[in-house]
Amino acid sequence: HERIVDAVQLEEDRKEESLRPRYLHEYIGQQGIKDNLRIYIDAAKLRQESLDHVLLYGPPGLGKTSLAHIIANELNVNIRVTSGPAIERAGDLAAIVTNLSEGDVFFIDEIHRLPKSVEEVLYPAMEDFAVDIMIGKGPSARALRLELPPFTLIGATTRAGLLSAPLRDRFGVVAHLNYFPVADLQRIVVRAAAIFDILLDEAGAAEIARRSRGTPRIANRLLRRVRDFAQVVGDGQIDYELAIEALARMNVDAYGLDELDHRLLLGIIEKFGGGPVGLDTLSATVGEDAGTIEDVYEPYLLQMGLLKRTPRGREATERAYAHFGKLYPTQQ
Ligand code: ADP
Repeated sequence: HERIVDAVQLEEDRKEESLRPRYLHEYIGQQGIKDNLRIYIDAAKLRQESLDHVLLYGPPGLGKTSLAHIIANELNVNIRVTSGPAIERAGDLAAIVTNLSEGDVFFIDEIHRLPKSVEEVLYPAMEDFAVDIMIGKGPSARALRLELPPFTLIGATTRAGLLSAPLRDRFGVVAHLNYFPVADLQRIVVRAAAIFDILLDEAGAAEIARRSRGTPRIANRLLRRVRDFAQVVGDGQIDYELAIEALARMNVDAYGLDELDHRLLLGIIEKFGGGPVGLDTLSATVGEDAGTIEDVYEPYLLQMGLLKRTPRGREATERAYAHFGKLYPTQQ
């Protein structure tokens, strides 16, 4: 089923297109990344060269796609957008790169999901701006090298570790996006409210920000849902009380945790005495796929200091106990 606090794009998030920041100065937070990109972009423009290939990695909903579009806008070039799973054959990739114009941005989302055979075509394209294509079949087949205009590949992935080393090594710029601090999320919520004409006060914005799991996409989604609530139940304005009430009704708690997170943490606390418990055992207990637990649920819980990964398994922290109003067992 659908989670309100899912960081991945949901159907209702299509409206977020209008929220997408278009230039670096509109992109809130991640200052270090922005400062570096500004320099690389300006330097490439000065030298009239294509920008080095850029790898963006970090959890979903943190602005990787937005940054790819921003880079293209700042460079004043076109962007071609695709994703790893969408490119099935080497020929699909060759068709795209041979159609790029000089300096263009080629964005591949979920680049870790590119098939191996496609990845191999990408290497010479990135390194030498060339693709080798086979003409004909059987004994008369021969390779033909096509020169490409210099372009910038931007790859996005949720974890850099998912990428093969040879691919990772071909990116000149690697940017790691971290969860946003509450103050930045608050600015993002205020910006979105202005765009959508939503009446929102500072305390209301702060409360939505605190429960957004460090993720702009979730912040914008919670804002839209709280607005529904404000219009139907309240007087259309979002203040602290209304935000608290609406978010409680949505089962999003003070840390932005939902029922699934509760099941996971309470499972560790109540069934395993706080852990350590192995991932597979945990997966069987809460009835969720181990990979999903690891990639989707755990990163934020780890970041919040509610969960610990140890060599012997997962442990609920003292903070997790406190969050649920439970007494932390003292070690013997
Ligand atoms: P990703 O590609 O990492 O999943 P997106 O770039 O699609 O994330 O971002 C999701 C949404 O969050 C965007 O539509 C945008 O509205 C918002 N967003 C992300 N980062 C920022 C930011 N730094 N400032 C303002 N809005 C942001």
